[in-house]
Amino acid sequence: MLQTRTVGGVDLAYYIVCKRKLWLYKKGIGMESESDRVLEGSILHETSYPRLNKKEILIDGAFKIDAIDGEYVREIKLSSKMQESDKMQMLFYLYQLFLRGMKKKGLISYTKEKKTVEVLLTEENKRNIQRAIAGAYQIIDRDTPPPLKKLNYCKSCAYYPFCFSREDDDYDA
Ligand code: SF4
Repeated sequence: MLQTRTVGGVDLAYYIVCKRKLWLYKKGIGMESESDRVLEGSILHETSYPRLNKKEILIDGAFKIDAIDGEYVREIKLSSKMQESDKMQMLFYLYQLFLRGMKKKGLISYTKEKKTVEVLLTEENKRNIQRAIAGAYQIIDRDTPPPLKKLNYCKSCAYYPFCFSREDDDYDA
C-alpha cells in the first residue's frame, strides 16, 4: 500500500538508518509488516507501560506516540543498536508536540540493556530535526530509489531479499 507523502517518526528513523529503505517504504513496497523485528516491536507495545493509562496516543490524526508520562514522552525499544534513529524519531515527536504548544522531554527505554536514555529538544536538536524532515521529503520525492549501499544493518532489514536477491547486482560497498 502506498504510504502518504507526509513524513512521520518512523520515516525519520528510516531516513537515518537507510535512505533507500525510506524510499521503498514510502512507495508502498511493503515488506516491513513481515519483519520479525517489527512484530516483536508490536508485541512489546502490547505489554509495555502497565502503569500508564495512555498508550499509543494519536496526535491530530498525524502520528502516534507510545505513551505520555507527565512531562515525558515514552518510547520503548528492544535494543539500543539503532540509538541514532531512535533519537531522531523521538525528536520528531517532541518537535511536533512543541509546534502544538506542548513542551515535553523524551525517554527511550531499551529492554535488552535495561537502560533509559533522555532526549531533549534543544535549539540545536530543533535545527537537526528540521533538516532531517527536509531531507526525508527530498528522498521520498525522488522518482528512483537511492542507490543500493551495503550497510551493517542490511541483514536485519526486511528489504534485504528485495535489495540483495540478485547477487551479481552492482552496489556501493
Ligand atoms: S537491505 Fe540495506 S540497502 Fe536495502 S533497504 Fe535495507 S538497509 Fe537499505
